[in-house]
Amino acid sequence: MKVKNKLWLGFGFLFVIVLLFGTVCLYYLNKVADSSKLILKDNYISLNYCREMRSVLDNSIPPLTKTATERFNTQLKKEEANITEPGEEQVVANIRSAFVALQKNNNDQNAIQQDIMKIRQYIQAVEVINMRAITRKNDSVQQYIDHSVFILGFTATLTFLLLFSFSINFPGFILKPINSLLSGIRAISEKDYQARIRFNKNDEFAEVATAFNNMAGQLSEWENSNLSTIRSEKLRIEAIIEQMHDAIFGINEKHEILFINSAAKEVFNLGTAKIIGRPVIEIAKSSPAFKLIIEKAKAGETLNISVNGKDAHFELETSEINVPKITDYRPDELPVVKKQAGKVYILKNVTEFRERDEAKTNFIATISHELKTPISSIKMSVKLMNDERIGNINAEQRDLMANINEDSDRLLKLTTELLELARVETGNIQLNFVHADPAQIIDYAISSVSFQAAQKNVTLEIIKDGILPIVNADVEKTAWVLINFLSNGLRYSDAGSKIIISAANKINKVEFAVKDTGKGIDQQYQQRLFDRYFQVPADGQNNAGTGLGLAISKDFIEAQNGEIGVISEPGNGSTFYFTLPVA
Ligand code: ADP
Repeated sequence: MKVKNKLWLGFGFLFVIVLLFGTVCLYYLNKVADSSKLILKDNYISLNYCREMRSVLDNSIPPLTKTATERFNTQLKKEEANITEPGEEQVVANIRSAFVALQKNNNDQNAIQQDIMKIRQYIQAVEVINMRAITRKNDSVQQYIDHSVFILGFTATLTFLLLFSFSINFPGFILKPINSLLSGIRAISEKDYQARIRFNKNDEFAEVATAFNNMAGQLSEWENSNLSTIRSEKLRIEAIIEQMHDAIFGINEKHEILFINSAAKEVFNLGTAKIIGRPVIEIAKSSPAFKLIIEKAKAGETLNISVNGKDAHFELETSEINVPKITDYRPDELPVVKKQAGKVYILKNVTEFRERDEAKTNFIATISHELKTPISSIKMSVKLMNDERIGNINAEQRDLMANINEDSDRLLKLTTELLELARVETGNIQLNFVHADPAQIIDYAISSVSFQAAQKNVTLEIIKDGILPIVNADVEKTAWVLINFLSNGLRYSDAGSKIIISAANKINKVEFAVKDTGKGIDQQYQQRLFDRYFQVPADGQNNAGTGLGLAISKDFIEAQNGEIGVISEPGNGSTFYFTLPVA
């Protein structure tokens, strides 16, 4: 309904109420007035006639004069015409008959006096009847007035209540569409896109409501499409996780399972029970492997877990879940703060790689071992052939022999290193710890390379920190490392240069270092020098190398609880060092 019509309706209602109230008041006032008039008209007039008739009798000496008779008769006639009360007619008829008798008895004074007395008595009776009627009517008027007062009071109260309720409800009635619009806008702002406003089409706000409903519909459609996109993306991600060969599961910040794939359920032997949403501690109780991962295992660690009765190896990877948290809105950018929301665990099944690696190591160990004997025999044969007691060989043959010897040395170095590596990898590294003097280890190593150094005209200088503490070490393996450092240093040093071998006393450990003045090593390769088979690319000087020496050195030193490292700068030489704990 239009506001104008509502106002008309409101004021019309007020008008009707006031009109009704006025009508009721008028009606009852009229009624009261009529009742009063009735008393005046009927009974008061009768009393007047009686008083007139009595005054005629009072003022005349009987017998009545003609004038008095006429006056009396006139008043009596009027009274006869104004009979209103029951019994009044009879009494008035008695007055008439007594009056007729009075007229007839003109000379009998006694009879006259008796008639007049009768007339007086009858007049009095008429007066009594009317007086009583007045009193009765007065009572009934009084009752009527009381009734009217009650009705008027009731009507006034009803009118007051109606107007009061009207004054309270009417503004709401007028503002109803605006309120509906407001509540609709509020619902939309609270993301309730199902909210709609319904107005009559004659309403002024009908157009606004239609526009609003269209907007809400579009918002709802937009939200639904977003939701379905999110839902399908979620399903896609779940399917990807489920199909992953690696075992994967995630926990939230409340330590409840967020997701888990079948591979992980199999690894942890969790069957088909519902896992998602359950607390981590609960799952840990039923699966020792799960408990191990959650409580103890570190990222990067390889774990041995029995899956379906078979031993399997898994490499653990973990990653914190950091979700962006929107702090405040800016139209051009969305500043985000990362909020920690849980952790993802990935178990890579490396059993196959492990098995292959073991097979490779065993193969290398066998081959290297088998090759060592024939190479040694070749070396021995070359040595014998070089012996003049066996026979003379010419210069050309000597050169060929020297080449064979050099290649045999190289092959022997390679097989020795491969064998060492295989031993390290299979965990067969045997350490023979003794209390050793660092100076002795250095001397032992230097004696192995001094011939090589002299040939290349490189000076080997030893710097020692006074008296060094005794170290707890495997002398042979430690010397092997130092020899490897020195061989490398010699390979990269120019003729006439110097290599410094030092041993320094550091707190609770002794640091051994080999410093050369060779070409140095680029920063980008330094990290990888200790990896197996790594050689600095385009390193022309190292045709004989295997890339194993430093890797084995690292294993040897770390097995003795030491640390190994390099400090180098291209063009400024390199310093390879390791530490060993003091005994
Ligand atoms: P290799 O048998 O190849 O020498 P190593 O593990 O001992 O194996 O050394 C790995 C690589 O490190 C070498 O191939 C070489 O490129 C680099 N390297 C080692 N020592 C030095 C050094 N003193 N100066 C420069 N480069 C070096």
